[in-house]
Amino acid sequence: MDYVISTQPIVSLPVHGTDAKFPVRRVYCIGRNYAGHAIEMGHDPDREDPFFFQKNPNNLDLSGEFPYPQKSSDVHHEAELFVALKTGGTNIPVNKALDHVFGYGLALDMTRRDLQSIQKKMGRPWEVGKAFEKSAPCGPVHPVSAVGHLDQGHLELKVNGAVRQEADLNQMIWKVPEMISYLSEYYELAPGDVILSGTPSGVAAVEKGDVMVLTIDGLGSLEVKVV
Ligand code: MN
Repeated sequence: MDYVISTQPIVSLPVHGTDAKFPVRRVYCIGRNYAGHAIEMGHDPDREDPFFFQKNPNNLDLSGEFPYPQKSSDVHHEAELFVALKTGGTNIPVNKALDHVFGYGLALDMTRRDLQSIQKKMGRPWEVGKAFEKSAPCGPVHPVSAVGHLDQGHLELKVNGAVRQEADLNQMIWKVPEMISYLSEYYELAPGDVILSGTPSGVAAVEKGDVMVLTIDGLGSLEVKVV
């Protein structure tokens, strides 16, 4: 087959401890999944139905550098656990959902908060605030075979050595099996899908030169410099 323009490379993440790569199909993100963050964003933390948005697969970035994006002067970090799926489907029951998980990893849902706030007020989609170039710095996938399923564990984000975000994974409003099940009612999930599982309270602005270090028990750490 001849393509009329050059084809895009397959986006993939390294699989920790191996030479293999995990190919990425889609990137889903869940919003307001820790009560503290819902409150700080001005929302009721009660267990409303979850909601989702997407980033683009090639927004994932392994370089360890986050270029401060254009068109914003209020770019926030959101420290998150990601879930990588090896299989998918629709209407996946909660009690079968973890069977679809290949592994877990560390990600930052970088957000142009000023743009997102404007879009929210106007009832418009969030893409300009969320799905921009290199907006999802991340680390490798840690396979379940090595780290098990992460339903608890300390999550911490430091910026320039000071703790900004801190929580336990067991504080998620919608647990990983529930978010997979919910998502599968709206979309056909498939191998390669990645889900960013939401951020705890403490989101805040970054500046050029800042060094962000995200750590989750069992997954090591991810260091990203704002450049
Ligand atoms: Mn987020």
